[in-house]
Amino acid sequence: MINLWRAELPLLLLVLLVGVFIGKLTHHPFWVLLGMMALYLGHHLVHIRRLISWLHSGKTSEPPQGLGIWEEVFYLIFRLRRRNRRRKKQLIRMLERFRTATAALPDATVVLGPRNEIEWFNEAAGKLLGLLREDLGQNIGNLIRYPRFAEHLKQGDYLKTVGIPSPVSDAVQLDIRVVPYGEDLRLLVAQDVTQLRFMERVRTDFVANVSHELRTPLTVIRGSVESMIDQSQHLPPAQLRPLKRMEEQTLRMQNLINDLLTLTRLESPAHPIPRQLVDVPETLRSIVEEVLLIPHRDRPELALEIETGLGLYGGESELRSAFMNLVENALKYGRSSDLVTVRWATETQGLCLSVTDTGPGISPEFLPRLTERFYRVDTGDSPGGTGLGLAIVKHVLARHDAELQIESTVGKGSCFRCRFPEARVALIPQPAAVQDEWLPSEP
Ligand code: ADP
Repeated sequence: MINLWRAELPLLLLVLLVGVFIGKLTHHPFWVLLGMMALYLGHHLVHIRRLISWLHSGKTSEPPQGLGIWEEVFYLIFRLRRRNRRRKKQLIRMLERFRTATAALPDATVVLGPRNEIEWFNEAAGKLLGLLREDLGQNIGNLIRYPRFAEHLKQGDYLKTVGIPSPVSDAVQLDIRVVPYGEDLRLLVAQDVTQLRFMERVRTDFVANVSHELRTPLTVIRGSVESMIDQSQHLPPAQLRPLKRMEEQTLRMQNLINDLLTLTRLESPAHPIPRQLVDVPETLRSIVEEVLLIPHRDRPELALEIETGLGLYGGESELRSAFMNLVENALKYGRSSDLVTVRWATETQGLCLSVTDTGPGISPEFLPRLTERFYRVDTGDSPGGTGLGLAIVKHVLARHDAELQIESTVGKGSCFRCRFPEARVALIPQPAAVQDEWLPSEP
């Protein structure tokens, strides 16, 4: 902070004193004082000129010499300029480092403006997306011309990624994510996932081949065990028991293989989603009839609430297998005193199939992992299963743009909801009405 009086007052007093003294000597005090004031003004004008030419020169070297208050003004401006210069250098260094880091990134990175115009991109974007210097300012949608990518940009769902082949080579597979940042800016990150996709395909093919190869020997083993059991009326119970266990285990392995084959089929890109008109009410009724045919000593009560006349566009067998898994689980994990409600009804946005039970429920820590392959909640007395049922449900729903929501409370029961978007809703030519159908727990 400049101390105006301490810096300037002594000089002003000196000028006035000298003026008064010379004025007395010459007997023209007014003119002498006027002359001294003019000199004082001249002194400030000279310093202002020095300041302007120093600022114009742009040099940040030592400031010009100053007298009185000007010495402090020059020094303060000099300090300010030196600090700014240091900050500028720091920023330039940081920018350089950021540029070299992003240039070294193996992922393509593109900065997009508010109208999807390219503002900046790194070296990898040149290689993976085929971008050139002259593309700066161009709309990215004009350069990456895939309907899936255009849809992704339009939708602006930044949590999802979109998979497309590279515009440079069809053999290169890219996963693209668009992340918003700053004001109206977006960062497009494209990752080369060719190797990953290849490994996934190898894994899927391996599982499919092994499962397929195991199917025939298992059918033979099961057939042999069954015929041995059929002819075992005279066998003592000690010999019959291992045969029964063998039958159970072969059945379990067959279920496992069937589930694995279903999963691989659902994952395969060569297996497109059919767009048939699926009569969901009819499918649900036939599922319920089928599960009730299987003998079960401790089966819960089953209720069906169906809004007729509404179906879905999709794959009938896939949807059937997903719904069947949910209904089977609710019956499998419940007791005869429980109630399972299968409900098919309209929601604010689309349609929902819910399977609610009053069974044992699931602890909250297990919920996020339920749809993982082979994941089973081990409660000690849990009935047999493959741990693949909910993984199949999740895949089928994802293929139908639907989502699975699970709510559960230990000791109270669970609710599995499949939410389908409006775009999948199909009208079945029937009068719409809500029907309540109560079915007996035993066939
Ligand atoms: P599983 O073949 O074991 O039934 P799933 O993938 O269908 O495999 O289910 C995974 C796990 O989720 C099951 O092991 C079970 O612990 C739990 N689970 C699924 N549905 C229910 C339900 N309705 N009530 C209680 N637990 C359930």
